[in-house]
Amino acid sequence: MLELKPRTSSITSVLLTTEPMTRHTTYRIGGPADLFCQPGSLEDLRQALRVVHQRNLPFTIMGNGSNLLVSDEGFRGMVIQVAGVFNGIHFQRDHVTVGGGTDLGTLLNQAARRGLFGLPFAVGIPGTVAGAVTMNAGSATRYMGQHVESVRVLDCETLEILDLTRAELDFQYRRSILESGRWVILQVRLQLEEEDPVAIFARIRELLLRRKEVQPLAFPSAGSVFRNPGSLYAGKLIEDAGCKGWLEGQAMVSPVHANFIINLGQATAGMVFRLMARVQEVVWQRFQVRLQPEVRILGHCPEKLQGEGIP
Ligand SMILES: Cc1cc2nc3c(=O)[nH]c(=O)nc-3n(C[C@H](O)[C@H](O)[C@H](O)COP(=O)(O)OP(=O)(O)OC[C@H]3O[C@@H](n4cnc5c(N)ncnc54)[C@H](O)[C@@H]3O)c2cc1C
Repeated sequence: MLELKPRTSSITSVLLTTEPMTRHTTYRIGGPADLFCQPGSLEDLRQALRVVHQRNLPFTIMGNGSNLLVSDEGFRGMVIQVAGVFNGIHFQRDHVTVGGGTDLGTLLNQAARRGLFGLPFAVGIPGTVAGAVTMNAGSATRYMGQHVESVRVLDCETLEILDLTRAELDFQYRRSILESGRWVILQVRLQLEEEDPVAIFARIRELLLRRKEVQPLAFPSAGSVFRNPGSLYAGKLIEDAGCKGWLEGQAMVSPVHANFIINLGQATAGMVFRLMARVQEVVWQRFQVRLQPEVRILGHCPEKLQGEGIP
């Protein structure tokens, strides 16, 4: 894999205490993280991990926070945000080596200028490349893992750098082994497809317009709240169960897309959790399908939400 150095010279690391996660999630929801670190270099990232190990603190890695629902109590440990750093992009014919902290939009834009595309599902996803690879982000039929050749990571325990191949990452629907939190993604090597740049930009515009039509983009959210169960669509089940427009305080099941729970302005995580639990229950009663959360929940989840990975 090509060497891509983080831009150590121009980026300063940031360490904040009692930092409201409302500032770092697209949901604009979440209590404080005891410690919030934005490492500006690989060495500072290692240092942050040394600190959490020495103090035996819980920690979590995040990108743009576009798939995160942080509890109102916040997170008792260190949140390490890798976004805006480790963001070099290097093209080699139809391959690209890209820093994990790069915005998907930036990658798509630069690739399009070189006549490279292949990731239509990624247009409009407000995440980083690393977040998209971890979540195996995509649409119903296409997803990030199909384009990943390998990933360069920092092992959070040993602080060693290693490369993992696509086969080792075990991509499944909105899943990969990277979710374990054992590694920090530093860079990703992807294979793209060659196309005419004018056609690519036209397609990107069309896909962005389509998203505006079918998703409630005027309100803060974390995208789809529940995973699609098997071949069914969570949004369709929720809509058919009559949940569109349901409210819990300032959290609402979007009337535009039933699998989005939107923040009307002052929503708390508690309101979203309560709405998720109500939706889950009514879909179960109606269709005997138990919806599993797709959003990643950070901190304590007070409702009896059924699902994997709920603390
Ligand atoms: C309006 C909207 C539309 C969306 N549309 C889609 C869609 O069409 N398809 C889809 O799949 N998702 C969609 N999402 C959800 C979300 O944008 C994606 O899951 C995205 O890929 C998450 O990226 P992120 O950088 O924000 O990751 P975060 O939310 O910050 O984190 C997600 C996961 O990635 C891990 N992670 C992040 N960076 C690293 C790193 N450097 N190293 C190791 N682990 C890391 C985190 O620990 C966490 O487990 C949408 C969200 C919104 C708000």
